[in-house]
Parts: sequence; C-alpha cells; structure tokens
Amino acid sequence: MNLIALAVPFFLFALLVEFLIDRWRGTGYYRGNDAINSLSAGILSESTGYFTKFLQYTIWGLVLSNFALLDIQRSWFNASMEGVFLWVLAAVLWDFCYYWNHRFGHEISILWAAHAVHHQSEDYNLSTALRQTSSSFFFSWIFYLPLFLIGFPADVLITVAAVNLIYQFWVHTQQIRRLGMLDRIFVTPSNHRVHHAQNERYIDKNYGGIFVLWDRLFGTFTEESDDEPVVFGVRKPLANWNPFWANFQVYDYLLFDARNTRRWRDKIGIWFRRTGWRPDDVAAQFPKRPVNLDEFKKFDPKLSNSRRRYVLAQFFVALMTALFIADAFATKGAGVVLVPCLLLWTNLYTLGLLNEDRLYAARFELLRLFVIVPIGLYAIDPALIAVTLSSGLFVATYILVSALWLRKN
Ligand SMILES: [Zn+2]
Ligand SMILES: [Zn+2]
Repeated sequence: MNLIALAVPFFLFALLVEFLIDRWRGTGYYRGNDAINSLSAGILSESTGYFTKFLQYTIWGLVLSNFALLDIQRSWFNASMEGVFLWVLAAVLWDFCYYWNHRFGHEISILWAAHAVHHQSEDYNLSTALRQTSSSFFFSWIFYLPLFLIGFPADVLITVAAVNLIYQFWVHTQQIRRLGMLDRIFVTPSNHRVHHAQNERYIDKNYGGIFVLWDRLFGTFTEESDDEPVVFGVRKPLANWNPFWANFQVYDYLLFDARNTRRWRDKIGIWFRRTGWRPDDVAAQFPKRPVNLDEFKKFDPKLSNSRRRYVLAQFFVALMTALFIADAFATKGAGVVLVPCLLLWTNLYTLGLLNEDRLYAARFELLRLFVIVPIGLYAIDPALIAVTLSSGLFVATYILVSALWLRKN
C-alpha cells in the first residue's frame, strides 16, 4: 500500500481549502506562478523518482538481507502493546535519521544542491510542502542505512518514512500562527517557518521532521520571533519558473567555482565542504554580492489575466497526466511510463516559460501542442490519435482549443 499516493487527494483538497482561506482573509500568501512552480517541482520529483528510487530500495534490500544485526520479525509489529511500541520506536528512529539527513542536507554543499529545491519558494503555503527535489536519490538513503543494518523489516521502515513525510505537509502554512508548548516538542507551522527563512538569525535552524526535540538536543532550535518576520526563500534566488533549472541551480554554482579554482584539492573539496564555502581564488575573482533583505523583492513577472488562466488550465492537464502516470506506474512499472513522462516534463517546462512571460514561450507552446503531443501520444499508443475516432477527436480538440486560446493572450 503506497501511503503517499493515498494522501495525494487529501493534499490537493487541503491546498484548495488553504487557498480559499487565503482569498477570504485577504492574506496574500498565494501567488499562482510560485504555487505552480512548486507543484511542478513536486510532480517532477515524483515522476523522476519512477526511474531513480530503485537505487535506494536495492541497496537497503541488500543491506537488510546480508548484514542485518538482529532478526526482527515482521509479525512483532502487531496491535499488541509491544507491537505498538515497536512501531513508535521505528518511527522515532526514522525521525532521528531524518534530522541528520536534513541537517547535512543544509550544511554540506553537494547535499544542499539537492535539497535547496525545497527552499526556493519565496512564498510559504501548502504548495511549498510539495516542492521536492529530484536529485536526493544520490545520497539521502545513506542516512537511513543504520536502521536497515539493525534489521528493522523493510516495509515497516517504508511505512514510517511515508508517515514522516506526510506529517510534514501540514506545517507549511502561515494560516496557523503559534501552538504554545507544541512548538517546542513537535515540528509545527511556526518553527518550520523559521526553517524556511533566509534571515541571518534563522538560517540553519529547526531541521526536525516530526520532533523538533532533536534540534533542542543538538543546539539547532530557534523560535519564531515577532520582532523579525520571516523572509522566505534562498539567498541566491532562483529567479525563474523552470522546475528543471530549480534542480540544477546549486550544482551549477558549485560547478562554476570548481572549474574556475586553480587547485585540484579545491576542485574536489568544494563539493564536500560546508555550504557557502568558496576557494580563496574564486571568491576574490568572482565576489558574491552581500545579501540585504531590506532590498528583497519576490520574483514575480506579471502576466495578462487571460495568460494566467491559460497556464492554470494547462497545469491542470499536467496534474491529470501525472495522476494517470502514477496509476500506470503502480500497475505496470517504469517501462510504460517513460514516454508519458517525457510529455509531462515538456508540459511543465513550457508552463515555466509562459509564467516567465518569455518572448518565445508561445512559440514553444505551439511546438508542444502541434508536434510533441501528437508524436508522444502516437508513441504511447497509435490508437490514441490515429485509430479511434473519439480519442482522436478529443486530442485534436485539446490541441486546437489550446492553440486558439493561446493566440488570444
Ligand atoms: Zn530544509
Ligand atoms: Zn519545509
């Protein structure tokens, strides 16, 4: 049973409710372009995961079957007192490993390159929760290896991992302010807002997943202060709406410094040093501009209302495609979803261009509609466009209505 897949309808419903509350209260915590970019990064993370997650599952499986220290039986995790205790123990230990995974994800450059995607949003709402990286498969699994080495059953660990991730969804909101004592025990909206801040006093704080107690134990806890409102985002802004670039941005900065520094030790070392560290020669040659949050402005290209509605409609198509692909992957595996994923990724890329109001965005969208979509659908199954009259008409209608709408905005 895939708990995260089951939670998706709930996530989308909660997002809609939070959006309506935002409009009703007039709080202005939602911008369509930022939310679409966050959700695009989330869809990209999920869909690339169909081709990358096997790596962690394979390694975890190998460790569990060859090197497990204890022979922990799956049947022990039942509805008895001891069984419930074991479930809680597994969940707490997973959360402990998550803390270190998350902390290193901020403090070591190459790990930050993967995790930064989650922090690039300059808004903070439930769509930010779904803004996930596509490249954590390189290293994240390492931090959970000890639990497989102890010998916890794989499906117990996969379940507590899913619960851990699902828990973190609700804390990405500004509609809930403070929760008293809870803010000092659990990860909550208030202390997780601090985690998403770029203010100096809040940086590298509150790494917990479910329990913020780990931060209090290891000295990384800070409370949200009324004196200093949180400024959300990262210090080198993404400044575009391309979900692919969001995943490459920090790797690109590191690659730039690695190429330009002279010493080989630094070319390699730069990836594994503390985040923000730069070799002296590149720091002198290409100095960074100091960050001044008083001058901070959100990235926000303006679009016509008609173009905004068009992007929203095409995002809805992307979302439906992603749900269709998730179902196909669950029943038929990764082999059948590659071409649908290519279609989906093209759609997400174009949405970014349209939201940035690029000159060539409309031309690229027309190329997608008239060339990429028909070829992609034909590659999936010729019956989709060429054989069956009803589906052929459906696709043709989608393409023509989209193209006419696009011409008008
Ligand atoms: Zn983080
Ligand atoms: Zn977060």
